[in-house]
Amino acid sequence: MTDDDRAADRMNLVWKRYDLQLRHVFRIARGARTTVPVMILELHHDGIIGYGEASPIKRYGESPETIEEFFRKINLAPFESPMALENILQYVNTIAEGNSSAKCAVDLALHDWIGKKLAVPLYRLWGLDPEKTPLSSFTIAIDSKEVVEQKVREGEHYPILKVKVGLENDEEMITTIRSVTDKVLYVDANEGWTDKHVALERITWLKDHNVAFVEQPMPAGQFDDLKWLRDRSALPLIADESVLRLSDIPALAEAFDGINIKLMKSTGLHEAMRMIEAARALNMKVMLGCMIETAVGISAAAHLSPLADFADLDGNVLISNDPFDGVRNINGRLQLRNTPGLGVTPV
Ligand code: MG
Repeated sequence: MTDDDRAADRMNLVWKRYDLQLRHVFRIARGARTTVPVMILELHHDGIIGYGEASPIKRYGESPETIEEFFRKINLAPFESPMALENILQYVNTIAEGNSSAKCAVDLALHDWIGKKLAVPLYRLWGLDPEKTPLSSFTIAIDSKEVVEQKVREGEHYPILKVKVGLENDEEMITTIRSVTDKVLYVDANEGWTDKHVALERITWLKDHNVAFVEQPMPAGQFDDLKWLRDRSALPLIADESVLRLSDIPALAEAFDGINIKLMKSTGLHEAMRMIEAARALNMKVMLGCMIETAVGISAAAHLSPLADFADLDGNVLISNDPFDGVRNINGRLQLRNTPGLGVTPV
């Protein structure tokens, strides 16, 4: 092999920023937004392109700039091909602390490339049943009565709604939704209740409104309050902001009944798979969630979803300019495509 051959054979990373437009202003307990920047990563090697995505999480100090800075530090020259996934991910993890969504982009691109190289969809590579994808919820963010009503009607074909609460109008949000529909609700407080007695009162009230569980009722930092709440809660509690990666899980079993795994926090599919196993070992429920993402990130999570109890994978349904086509969300039913890798194509 000449030096030129070797250079041509190298794995090459290319990235591009996209600004995703939200269909509605998206308001949760922490704030509101109308566009979301994401970075799409392409891994080129051996005539195959593997796609990955990073949707930066502000809370953990990420931005399009930090993601780009991280991508620039990656040197894949010592590795022969994406088939060295385990070694590559171990190396990528040591480049810098944090940067979980940037690490996720690399993980997804490697998985997509491998699936394409082997000509199998990821769910098949893992031996999962594509018929077992859980129903995905449709998210209703915090808003005025009129907008909430409109959004509930927009989501009328979805069998489950996920409702954001955690501000002063919690009861109004639920009552408004209940005036339109009686379908099952997942409730997400996004750490909005800071007083444990208030949290318990709200949960007790929610119990009578066909709510399946409550996600992150109180701030991740108030662990003792969360334990107190869990002992008294009439509804299962699911950790979201309290859980990022595998090492967080054992301690959480004391304060939560389940965990919401998001690829952008878990650093991708490789670790998410291990998080699911850890949760199962601790008898915890598993939910798969997402950030606002394109079909790249959503499809990746959908391939894992046959292993989950609950799915909230509507990140790309909430945007109007998805640059990719991938898993289809037909009225909440996630339909995996029988195409290699993540099964995504640029539009
Ligand atoms: Mg959440």
